[in-house]
Amino acid sequence: MKLFGIIGYQLDHSLSPFLMNRFFRYAHIDAAYGCFPVESHRLQDVVAAMHELRFVGANVTIPYKETVLPMVDLLSDEASKIGAVNTFFWKDGSLEGHNSDAVGFLSALKEVKFSPGNKKALVFGAGGAARAVAYALLSNGCEEIFVAARNQSKGLSMCEAFKNFYHGQVLNLLPWASEEIARVTDSVDLIVNATPIGMGALKGKLPPIPSEFISSKHFVFDLIYDPQETSFLMTAKRKGAKTLNGFPMLLYQAAQNLEIWLGESVQAEAVPYWRSLLKKERILIE
Ligand code: NAP
Repeated sequence: MKLFGIIGYQLDHSLSPFLMNRFFRYAHIDAAYGCFPVESHRLQDVVAAMHELRFVGANVTIPYKETVLPMVDLLSDEASKIGAVNTFFWKDGSLEGHNSDAVGFLSALKEVKFSPGNKKALVFGAGGAARAVAYALLSNGCEEIFVAARNQSKGLSMCEAFKNFYHGQVLNLLPWASEEIARVTDSVDLIVNATPIGMGALKGKLPPIPSEFISSKHFVFDLIYDPQETSFLMTAKRKGAKTLNGFPMLLYQAAQNLEIWLGESVQAEAVPYWRSLLKKERILIE
């Protein structure tokens, strides 16, 4: 039996075990996917134990996507440029670190026929997901990205890191202030919320963008999938913007993980299977 799992701090709400285990059963794959909540001081031991137990791969989530960087033997190009790992793969005795968030984000955009080429974007957040979004956009020809970050030093290091790889394209750091954000909103095509503002304890809250500046010219992508429609997406929809929640990205990044681990293409089978499963279970309401 092939073993997989997810490592993080709080995993009570993770959908990954449900999605992965149901797909294994559906596709007759002899495999199991477990949930491993870990305190930071035990992280290294847990990764070593998984290796010892011959795990094939694992996902890594908040808050360890960056902490695990020194633990891997080999980083994929994406993970290295993004500066975060969300997928482990033990291959020939070495631990590979990958990042499937960028592929998940791009596939979700592709499905709704939004192409980042020659577009401008405003991204809220400077964490692992925001960096994956910036990488995905820049490597697909996005012209300019404005990064609005609460933690300005994190935002600055994100902008500086990408400047090393993408010379012709521009990254600008914005303060976490609605006046500054309002000033650039009209010039962007895509607005991405890559913060937890709108979920959990922050449910009902909005990123600092005055709603009167959002219009039908915008595509608004909130990476949050629970709730399915955040207050930010509701507001954007009311203002006439096209909107997308985090579900498609979640499914596409999960399919990408399976492709890394199994070495075969599963997206065309897995994504529609998961969609119908989530609808049947009333987790996804359309
Ligand atoms: P992360 O690495 O912890 O980064 C979170 C970012 O949000 C940081 O820049 C953080 O700023 C900022 N932030 C947190 N709370 C804030 C607040 N109250 N006000 C302003 N900024 C705040 O997390 P992540 O992995 O990037 O995930 C970010 C979001 O994307 C989460 O909601 C996650 O669920 C979602 N996500 C979705 C998918 C998907 O497949 N749909 C995939 C990955 C992530 P500080 O540094 O100042 O704390």
